[in-house]
Amino acid sequence: MAEELNSFPQTLTIAGTDSGGGAGVMADLKTMQERHVFSTAVIVAVTAQNTLGVQDFMALPKKLIDEQFASLADDLAIKACKTGMLADAEHVEIVVDNLKRYDFGPLIVDPVMIAKGGAALLADDAIEVVKRDLLPLATIVTPNLPEAERLTAMSIKTADDMKQAAKVLQATGAKNVMIKGGHGDTDKVSDYVLLEDGHSFWLSSPRVDTVRTHGTGDTLSSAMTAEIAKGHDIETAIRTAKDFVEAAIRHTIQVGHGHGPLNHWA
Ligand code: PLP
Repeated sequence: MAEELNSFPQTLTIAGTDSGGGAGVMADLKTMQERHVFSTAVIVAVTAQNTLGVQDFMALPKKLIDEQFASLADDLAIKACKTGMLADAEHVEIVVDNLKRYDFGPLIVDPVMIAKGGAALLADDAIEVVKRDLLPLATIVTPNLPEAERLTAMSIKTADDMKQAAKVLQATGAKNVMIKGGHGDTDKVSDYVLLEDGHSFWLSSPRVDTVRTHGTGDTLSSAMTAEIAKGHDIETAIRTAKDFVEAAIRHTIQVGHGHGPLNHWA
């Protein structure tokens, strides 16, 4: 009976909040709700933020983060999880330790580094820790182009560069890699996916001319997490998440004066 009650697909986001509602944990929870899973959240950092940018943030103390993980492990049956903003090296380590302690299913790592407004959401010295300790735990890693450049120490200009960078990322231990082309300057957005078995493909969509793309990466990785928790395979989860984000970007909501949020009801 207890197991039956706990059988509804459950997910976990391990990330930072966005007081402005468009990105981070807020985008994650909304996306997962839309994708029909029940999501929990471990808050790593709290940001003071709106559509104009990140005004301030603070990461939470280790004890409170450890306790959030323990609370979830004691009660829920989480089938897939994701990481977003992790703030600094110390907090990446705290999250890694907890992910090794408990089984929350496949892990999607969105290696959040810099917000669209330019604020650093991950300290520079944390990048090595992400590579060394977090990526080997990842079922999927979803960097955008600047994040992929930082993680691979490569300059990524061409399609061949993206393919090469995906291989370098896979060599860190991340099983599946999706490099998002949204930060490029072409008319089409082309994302490159390299799966664990070596199979690879491109996902292309027309570039939508809008600044209202706040929380795009969070939405994509959350949609993937939800699809995996529902039992879909990795490739299906990636393709469904891409379609979901593409529709959400086409129908953004007019709130705030800057980088507005996506519309999840598209
Ligand atoms: N704030 C938080 C807490 C985030 O996790 C993220 C992205 O992951 C952002 C802000 C940045 O969102 P964007 O770069 O889409 O504006």
